[in-house]
Formats: sequence, structure tokens, C-alpha cells
Amino acid sequence: MEDEPQPPRNQLRSYPPVESWSDWVEHDPQAWPEKAERHYRLIPTICFNCEAACGLLAYVDKETGEIAKIEGNPVHPASRGRLCAKGLAIMNQLQSADRVLYPMKRKGPRGSNQWERTTWDEVLETFGARIRRAIREGRGEEVMYHVGRPGHDGYMERVLQGWGVDGHNSHVNICSAAARLGYFLWQGADRPSPDYANARCILLISAHLESGHYFNPHAQRIIEAKMAGAKLIVVDPRLSNTASCADSWLAPHPGTETAVLLAMAKVILDSGRFDARFMRQWVNWEDYEADGFVARGKTFEEFVTALRTHYAPYTPEFAERESGVPAEAIAQAAQDVADAGSRFASHVWRASAAGNLGGWQSARALVLLQALTGSMGTRGGLSPNSWDKFVPEPFRVPPAQERWNELLYPPEWPLSHHEMSQLLPHFLKEGRGRLDVYFTRVFNPVWTYPDGFSWMEVLRDERLVGLHAALTPVWSETAAFADYVLPMGLACERHDVQSQETQAGSWIGFRQPVVRVFRELEHGERVHYTYEANPGEVWEEDEFWTSLSWHIDPDGSMGIRQWFESQTEPGTPVSVDEYYGHIFDHSVPGLPAAAAREGLTPLQYMRKYGAFEVARDVYSVNEAPLSGADTTTQEGDLLSKDGRAVGVLVGGRSVVGYETPSRKLELYSTTMRDWKWPEFALPEYIRSHVGPAALAVAGGETAGPSGDGMPLVEWPTHARGDVLVLVPTYRLPTLIHTRNNNAKWLFEISHKNPLLMSSTDASRLQVRTGDLVKVHTEIGWFVISLWLTEGLKPGVVACSHHLGRWRRDRDEAIERWGSSVVSVEEPEPGKWMLRVKEATQPWTSSDPDSQRIWWSDTGVHQNLTFPVHPDPVSGMQCWHQVVKVEKAGGDDRYGDVFVDTALAHQVYLRWKSLCRPAPGPGDLRRPLWFARVARPAPEAYLMSPAG
Ligand code: SF4
Repeated sequence: MEDEPQPPRNQLRSYPPVESWSDWVEHDPQAWPEKAERHYRLIPTICFNCEAACGLLAYVDKETGEIAKIEGNPVHPASRGRLCAKGLAIMNQLQSADRVLYPMKRKGPRGSNQWERTTWDEVLETFGARIRRAIREGRGEEVMYHVGRPGHDGYMERVLQGWGVDGHNSHVNICSAAARLGYFLWQGADRPSPDYANARCILLISAHLESGHYFNPHAQRIIEAKMAGAKLIVVDPRLSNTASCADSWLAPHPGTETAVLLAMAKVILDSGRFDARFMRQWVNWEDYEADGFVARGKTFEEFVTALRTHYAPYTPEFAERESGVPAEAIAQAAQDVADAGSRFASHVWRASAAGNLGGWQSARALVLLQALTGSMGTRGGLSPNSWDKFVPEPFRVPPAQERWNELLYPPEWPLSHHEMSQLLPHFLKEGRGRLDVYFTRVFNPVWTYPDGFSWMEVLRDERLVGLHAALTPVWSETAAFADYVLPMGLACERHDVQSQETQAGSWIGFRQPVVRVFRELEHGERVHYTYEANPGEVWEEDEFWTSLSWHIDPDGSMGIRQWFESQTEPGTPVSVDEYYGHIFDHSVPGLPAAAAREGLTPLQYMRKYGAFEVARDVYSVNEAPLSGADTTTQEGDLLSKDGRAVGVLVGGRSVVGYETPSRKLELYSTTMRDWKWPEFALPEYIRSHVGPAALAVAGGETAGPSGDGMPLVEWPTHARGDVLVLVPTYRLPTLIHTRNNNAKWLFEISHKNPLLMSSTDASRLQVRTGDLVKVHTEIGWFVISLWLTEGLKPGVVACSHHLGRWRRDRDEAIERWGSSVVSVEEPEPGKWMLRVKEATQPWTSSDPDSQRIWWSDTGVHQNLTFPVHPDPVSGMQCWHQVVKVEKAGGDDRYGDVFVDTALAHQVYLRWKSLCRPAPGPGDLRRPLWFARVARPAPEAYLMSPAG
């Protein structure tokens, strides 16, 4: 970062220079025209309003000691000083009058929303004793931590493994499980790292210029590439802002994207414009077996002929019939990709992957294009995320737990990526287990997940969930069903290290509690716990978990306390300074030297800059040499050490290769073959549950089941109307799930989510913009208003999922900038009706803006009406829905939601029946080479452990 160009003095600057951060002077805009100087200390930290981890610079007013504004951190290597609207809106969240400021304890029946203030000491005593008892009684798996937005890198794995508990649950299977599996099977790393900035052609199955994974760091690099002449191809049934910037917009029927990609692959294969040298060296073509052809012992040329034969059916004309995208457009896109050669970058994360049965194959097909063009690991190409995301060695690592929790990784989904979290309510209802202590952290499944009423049924039942603590900065629909609501810090109020694969290089960012650091640096105060400096008694996770671990094992006899004990002051809990100081001292290459050049410790350096660039221009890591000492055995080209593949011989050189069993890119997956899915060992097109064939069956045009064995839609008797596909996954650029809580600027910009419909469908249904329609799913319905657009494929309707928040009481502090007051009733067991009683309206608070709300429509909560659709392979929630849409009737009101949770359970059972459960080879629950969060000991992978 010392190379960062600095403009000469007396010129305009985009950002305050680092040397002035300890005393930055600006004129107070409120005092204008008087030039009143205000002095600030600028303290870097990391954004938490999405996963990109952009760098923030907090301006702390020296007079008030409060954060006056937030801007981008110019020395952050990924975001480079830029923030999106969500990042800037952190100020709203910090200053919101609706925050949770003190630990709260339920005082009425669960779910009744009656609370009283309690103390952190009481919380630690209560939870410490209960967890101690569960662990001592061998019920450790009844303790579960369930995280919505992670942003707390590595710490929770330590905590749970320190307790010896297999209890880490996440939100991944409603988010990215499908894409992860697709990428993982190819490269042994479950995320892509595209080098957009240097690409000549970029193919996005996403709306990356406005939203999506790491969108701010990615969008700025995509634009750089475009300005340098790169072609942009966007695949999306909706004309997103991103699609509107594309050179080619391909709008397939949802669920047919893989057919389009495989047709592109066929065009490249047939034209001979693939990189034969790369394929020969780096693709595991010798493992290939298909259509009676076995490649081992054959030539590469014979393999290519067999591959062409295999993909022969995927003609552009076939893809056109499936997707509706013209064959010429598909062929042209293939030529554009081939033209880019090794400088082709692509991305899918949610979109087709997250929407569809078999969506994981769209990631498989996309990487096939990368492999064909030889653009894996190249400048302008695509790398595994593990090359670019920097993961430091943590402070003291406890041993892996010896137990396997089937509520997290059940045997039916042995290849899931990762925990089958969307099914937790159904597992609990089926009696597969219970939760004695349940921590939810920044997690709001009642609102964010499909099938939210099933969550409510489970969360209110104290036999199934014994004690529930919601760790959250804000109130939410789920926190309402907790026993304790524990306030945790926002982005500027806690510690964490972050690194993401945002470019062809790696970096580490330091999230820190700004006011605490300000008081320590500016006034030399010693702040023992972060809640002493945060508003109210808002704490931070690191210190909470450390303190709780000491309460579980106060005398150290359980062997837990040792993992949370200071190494410099034995007998006392490890402090955040010691914990992060240890990481920065020992495991960030180059950081100690950079710090020493400034006369700082590594921790002081990170507190000053907030980020450190570890490596630039990271390419071709697969070609890194392997020394003889690194290997012990060789079998064919595969090099192993201690029974584990560590490298491969390529062109006569020993190199590390990829993190797969073959150490090559796995076009042919022996894992899929061996784990009961041989028909999907290659990238293939799986017909989606919302594809044209499924629609024809659902609409009664053809008889089921379809050839791909997809689960049939069984319509409730009340469902009427035209059969269409609902795409419920798209994101408004300024909103992102519950984390937008209390961001008034964002809700002023975006507050309604009408149902988008093409004019073709609207004229058939005889509806217009503003009309109410009733959308039927398999388990219920919702009523919403309509927005006609020419920017959506006919046959498809779309609705953004970031709106429709609700509260059951006017004074409940759940997102009052963007939620309605509703009644929630259950007239019969399992039959739920939600109806809007009162739209959002102004209210009185310490913020005068709460009296200035001019909007009333805050959207409709569609997710409640979606059943779980767990993909039988990846475990991904297949979000897209086959729906029936009709004009709303006289009794229907805007925002109405009806759900029958008995039907929801039936849909769960139908999808579960598609699974091919463990054990796999060797009596394993899961392939040993597959990633797993908080990985247990190898013995725990056995279905029938010895003894
Ligand atoms: S892209 Fe994400 S991390 Fe970056 S500023 Fe926006 S919300 Fe924050």
C-alpha cells in the first residue's frame, strides 16, 4: 500500500491522505456560511451490509466522540474507496432509534413479544449452565449456532470445536449451495474468482453490475474491462440494469440456462476453437467414461471425438427449443467466448443455480466453457477462490469434534453444500432431534427462508427448541420468537478479519469497533469490553463467545476453557488484542515487515489502515512446483503424501495442480459416479422443476411424470389461474435481506416489490399495471399488485424478495421504515393467514425523519408461500416456483398471505424422495475430500462407527 499513488499537494483529492487520518479537518456544513472547522479522527473498518467486505472509513468527531459519517477506505485493495448505497446507509443503522441496545429477556409466552431488560451476567450464567449440562450429559448436538450473515471469519468454528460440539448451521442452502457444488466438483474449491479487470469477454448469469456476490468490487472491475473493450454477455430472463449494459442479452426460459451453455460448449468443441494443450494437460480426460467409451489407455484425440459425440445433442437449435434463445445468438456468444481465449471470465452464484432443480449443473457447464478456452487460472480468466481468499492461521485451534450431527448434514443429502438448514423445521417435526440451546445470529428465517410458518410452528414450541437466543443488532420476525434478544454490533462496532476473492490477488481486512478504537487512540483509555464503548450495552461476538466459554467451563475441568485462555496472561480470558495480534504477527505474509517499516506492530498497522494487500497478480497457482520432499508416493501421474493426493506430474514437472482427487480439473467426476449419480458425472442439462416440460405438466397439457423424474406440482384445490414461472430471487440494488434494517435512505429509494409481468401475459389475463393478482403456490397464495414490463420473458413473472417486512404490533420495532402492521392468525392448526392491518406510516421518534415517511406500500412477503424444494444432489433450495396467477377477487386484499403447513410438509416429503442417501463408498456419510463447515474427525464420517 505504500506504493499507492498520492496526488501532489494543492490538487483535488478523492480521499483524505492517510497521514492526515489522525486529525482530519473539514468545515462544518451546518455552520455555513461561517467556516467552522471540525476535527475528525478517521478509523477504518469493514462493511457488513453484504458479503463483499468493502473497506469503510469512519469519521469520528473529536468533540462528540461519535461517528459523524462513513466513506470508503481508499487503501482497501478490493473496494478501493468506493461504497454502494448500502454501505453508506450504515449511518442510518448506527443512529436508528429502533436498535436493540440492551440484552432483553422474554417475560410473556414465547412469541408474545413481551420483554424486559436483563444483564450480560445473567445471560452468561443462564446459557453457560445450560450448555455445560448438555455437553456433560452427552447432548452436545442439542446446542446449535445458526448464522444468517457470517462475517465472523473462523471464530465460530473455533468456539464450537472448542466445546466439542457439531453444531454449526448456516444459510448456505438457501443461497449458494448449487453453485458451490458445481464449482467444487471441477476444482475442489467451491467459489469462482473471476479476473474481470483483465478479461476480454465476460459472461454473467447474474445482475453483477447492480447486485450479487461481491458486487461493488466486481462491478468496478467489470466496468474497467468494458472500458478497455471487453464484451459483456448477460444471461437473465429479466432485463436487469446489468443486462441493459450488455453487448448481448440472452433471455432464456428460467431453468434452461444449462442447455444454452452446453450448446455454446458444443459450438466451441465442433469448431476446434478450444485450447487442446490446456485440456490435455489440465483436464482429467483420462478418467472420462461415457456412452461406452473409456478414455484410459486411449489418445487425447480419441477422447475429443468421444466428447464431441457426447455433446452432439446439445445443438444451438435444441437449446433454442428449450430456452427460447435464438440459435444464432447462442452460436455468436460461443464465438465471442472463443475469441477471448484464455481471457474469458464468467460467474454464476445464485440466479439459475439457486432457482432450479439441477441448477448446480449451470456452474458445471459454465466451467466447461472456461476449461475449453483454457481460461482457468489465467490473466483475465477464472481461478478457484482458494487462490485469492486469504485465510490466516487462527489463534490456537481445538481438535475436530468426534460427533456428526444429522440435523445439519443428514444422510439423504451426502453431497450437500452445506448444512440442510432450510429443512430444520421439518427435521424437528419428524422427531429427528431437538434443540436444547439454539443461537440464531443475524438470522431471520421466519422472513428470509421459504416456508416461514413452519419455522414459526417450531420456534414457538418449547419442546422442540428449549432456549433460543437471537444475537442481532435489530428486531426481526424471528427475534420475536426468542427467549433472549442479545444486541450485537453493527459493522463499526465489533472485531473480525475478512478476506474475499474479489480479484486476482489476496488481501485481509480488519473490522474493528470504531468508537472503542477512537477512545483508545485519542484519549489513551483502556476499554476492557467493547460494550463499554458501543451504544447502550451492544456487545461483540468475539468477547461474548469467549466469556460464555469461560462460564461453561469455569474451572477448566471440561477442557474447554483452555482454548479461550490468554497465552501471555494464563488464567485470564484471551483479549481481542491478543487474539488478533497473534494472527497479524504470525500468519499474514509481509504484514510484520510493512508494520515495522512504520515503527508499528502488525496490530497497530491494521488498526491504522484497516486492510493489507497480501498478494497481487495471482495466476497459475496450479503450476507451482512440488519438491520431492512434498511427496511420498506416485501412482500414474498422481503424487501423494501420507495417503493424500498433493500434486500431479504435468509435462514432466511435479506441480501442485488443483484441490481435486485427480489434482486436475474434473470434467468427469468420479465422485458423482461413485456416489450414485453416474448420469451426472459430466456437465449435463437437468430439466428444471420450472422448465417448459414441467410447466406443461403443471398446466395439465401433458401427463407427468417428466423424463427427468422431477417432483410433480400438486395444486391445492383453491389454486386457479394461468400457469407461469415465478422468479422470486432477484435483488433490488439497494436492499439485501434483513440487514437493511433501519436504513431509512434505502427504504426511501426502494420500498415496493410489484409482480413484474410481460404485456403478452397481462393481456391474456386481462390485467394492467396496478391491478391486484393472486399468486398460487403449492402451499398457499399471496396477493400483490402488478407492474407490466417489456423487459421480462413471456411466461415468467418476477418479484424481488427483499421487501414485505411485517410486524404484529404498531409499536414493535421491526423495520418501521419498511414494514406493515399485520394480523397473523391460525384459524385451524397449520392453516395460517397473514393480513395487512396498517400500511407503513410516519411515527414519532428521536429522528425527525420518522415523521417524514411519504411511502406506504412496503411490499408483499412472498417467501412465506414457498415450500422447501431441496435439490437432491446439492441440497440447494430451488427457489423458482411454478405458480397459478389469477386476477384477485373481491375478498382479496393487498399483502394477503395464506399457507397450509401440512401441504408444506408433503412437498418436503416429495422432494426428499428424489434423494440417493449415504452411505457412499467405504460406508461414508460424505466424500472425505468434500469441504464441510467445522469439519469433524474422520471417524465421524463413518455411518457405522467402529465399536
Ligand atoms: S458492496 Fe456490500 S460490502 Fe460493499 S459497500 Fe455495498 S453493502 Fe457494503
